[in-house]
Formats: sequence, C-alpha cells, structure tokens
Amino acid sequence: MTQISVFDGHNDLLLALWRSNDLDGSSFISGRDKGHIDLPRCKAGNLSGGFFAVFVPAATVAPESFWSRHPELVQGDIKKNKHKRSDNLLNTAPISQAYAYVATIEMMDIAHQLAKQHSDKVQICTNINNIEKGIEDKKIALLLHIEGAEAISADLHELEVLYDKGLRSIGPVWSRKNIFAEGVNFTFPSTPDQGSGLTEVGKELVRFCNKKQILIDLSHLNEAGFWEIANMSDMPLIATHSNVHDLCPSPRNLTALQLAAIAESNGIVGLNFGIGFLHFEGKRDRFLSLDTMCRHLDALLEVLGEEGVALGSDFDGIEVSDHIADCSGLPNLITAMKKNGFDDKLIKKICSENWLQFIKKTLS
Ligand SMILES: [Zn+2]
Repeated sequence: MTQISVFDGHNDLLLALWRSNDLDGSSFISGRDKGHIDLPRCKAGNLSGGFFAVFVPAATVAPESFWSRHPELVQGDIKKNKHKRSDNLLNTAPISQAYAYVATIEMMDIAHQLAKQHSDKVQICTNINNIEKGIEDKKIALLLHIEGAEAISADLHELEVLYDKGLRSIGPVWSRKNIFAEGVNFTFPSTPDQGSGLTEVGKELVRFCNKKQILIDLSHLNEAGFWEIANMSDMPLIATHSNVHDLCPSPRNLTALQLAAIAESNGIVGLNFGIGFLHFEGKRDRFLSLDTMCRHLDALLEVLGEEGVALGSDFDGIEVSDHIADCSGLPNLITAMKKNGFDDKLIKKICSENWLQFIKKTLS
C-alpha cells in the first residue's frame, strides 16, 4: 500500500457526528458503521487531516435531540414544520441565525471534545506549524471551516467567538441565499451564473476575513459573488471542493473563466469526489471510474498548474464512487493517478503539499 498521505480540502464529518447525536465524537475514535470518515479508516487510507466543515442543514434535518436541548429555538417556522422531519440534506430553504449559531457551536464543540479527550489522536489546528506538528505526531489535524455563514449576524460579532474557537476558513454561502450572498442550486445541467452578488454585509464579511486572516472558500458561491470576491479579496482564491464545469456542467463546478481567475491569483481548487459532480451527465454512477476523477485533475492542472490543484473529497457530504467507498480507499485514487501518468512528486503536491503550502502562505 502506498504511504502518500492526504490533507483534504473538505469533509462533513462533524455534521455526520452531530446528526447521529455523537456529541463527544466517540464513534470517530472507535469506528462508525456508516459514513466515510473515522479514525481507523483515516489510518488505513493515510488521511492526515484537512478542512473539517461545520454545515448547518435545514431545520427539518436537525436531529430531534437538538430541539430537546434547545426548546427556546422551537418557535415560528420550526414549530410549524417540526413534524416534517426529513433526511434531505439538499433542502435549500433558508435557516435562521439563532438556530445556525447554536448548531454551529455544537458541531465545533464536537471537534473540541475530540481534541480534549483524545489529545494523542486529534488536534485542532490553526496554522502550518501546528498542522505539521500534529501530522508528525500522527494526530488527525482538523482545520475548522464553516460552510455557509448563517451563524453570523450582520454586525459580524459572532465571528470573534468562532475565531477564538479555531475557525480559520469560511464559505460565505452553501447552496442557499443568506444575508451575505447567494449560492448555486443543484440543477443539472446549469451554470453557476444564477442570482445576484454580495450584499453590503457580504462585502464587510470578506474585508473582515482578509483582515483577520480567515480563508474565504468560493465553492457553492454563484458567479456574481465569485467575481466580486475575486475583485476585492487580498488573498489568493480557493474553491475547496469543486470540479470542472466543462467536464460536468453542474452549477457547483467552475467555468473556464473562473478557473483562470483562480489560477491568476495563485489559488487552489480541491477536487470534489461527489459522483454527481464528476460524471459528464451528472449521473450518480456508483461505479464511476477513477479515471474520470483523473480527467478532472488533468483539466485543473492544465489551467492551475502543479501548485494549484488539491483534493476536497466532500466525504460524509456526498456519494463517492465504490472504487473509493470511504477514506480508507484514498490509496485507490493514488493508484489511479499513477496509472494515468501522474508521478509521485505531483501526486504528493495534489494530495497534501499544495494545501499545506497555501496554509503556510495565508494563515499565521
Ligand atoms: Zn459543499
């Protein structure tokens, strides 16, 4: 088995643990009987760490236990729709700031519980020094990210609290509208050119993140918002988990012009493993060939160069090919990359070095 390790641009483990009421993350340590990520499988697949997202789903998707812990939040739409519980993670209905904030804190606290109770196995990281040290000590390095900034209100004051809890990366939107910007939907085929750009508060958020050294992730953002951030942000552009629109015309993927703008800023795109974001007809083909993932990598490399391409699996948030199945299958992707002519030096850059170099440049 290959020993090349992976530092991944995006996963939804914390959401999965929260939804299964595992508030201290113990099933991550012992092993989960479902999902894509746990410690035994990280070890098997050489997943050394990555961006661990906090994503707050539609209120109907939150576990019943959440509302029991927070009866004060059960009012208005939540009260009316409580009986409509569902597992539809793709529900793009807006969510309230009060619900989003409490759920975000709970998910971040799962990460903190893990790091506290299993300090020899898990570490929350905020810069390259503690990431490299964590990896050296064989701990899983968690860089905390929020996917959709609904937890933050217009005066941005929650950002300080979240920063103090280790937050270092923000996607202003998931695939729904909020007070900052608009996200793309999942219609296939379609373009990301849908909806309006950043609001004034959205621009404030970008300026604040630049000042505070919080990364801004463009995945899920619509084109109008993308171009505004491209024009105003001081930082190189990143899309942590998006693919190539020319090869799979999902609005979640990046057009040739967007890729060129990311390249020009010396930014990075992380390859999303979601089969629906890879297949040229958007088919959720469980047996999707890993060669298809290599074709997306080829196209990204052509525009972004060897330092601009990384991975952003989206594990625990999407369906992956059975040829990978979960994070223990990462070596299969590496084998496919070798078969497709990628040399070890390039594979190491894509699998971890590019994200680590980027973090070194941008987070102090
Ligand atoms: Zn996502």
